[in-house]
Amino acid sequence: MGFDCSKCPGYCCSHGRIAVSEHDIARLAGHFGVSVRTARRRFTYAYKTREADEQILRHRRDDVYKSVCRFLDPKTRRCTVYEARPNVCRKYPYGNRCGYYDFLKFEREFHDEPDFVPSA
Ligand code: SF4
Ligand code: SF4
Repeated sequence: MGFDCSKCPGYCCSHGRIAVSEHDIARLAGHFGVSVRTARRRFTYAYKTREADEQILRHRRDDVYKSVCRFLDPKTRRCTVYEARPNVCRKYPYGNRCGYYDFLKFEREFHDEPDFVPSA
């Protein structure tokens, strides 16, 4: 594997439009023991444009990136719903490499700081 998420503060979780399916919402509902309707309202919001009609994971403010998915733990930088995370999160970054991790590694080597995080 060409990347190590345990050394990254979760850049992919800062993506502004993490779309989830009805199946993803139902899985989150089961995880929290709430109705699908409650999960949809509590954890997602509707994003509608001429091109898109999606349910998006809600964000919260973040010190590392401007905002991140509400499920990312601000201290450990790990997903708090890992077992119930949406499919898109399971698949990301869709291969053996993560472009952001390559960038992070380059910047850390360049600055000679193993924990360096470039400002967003
Ligand atoms: S941005 Fe890449 S390295 Fe960082 S948590 Fe996401 S997949 Fe892992
Ligand atoms: S559900 Fe978990 S893995 Fe997916 S964006 Fe949110 S914190 Fe990241």
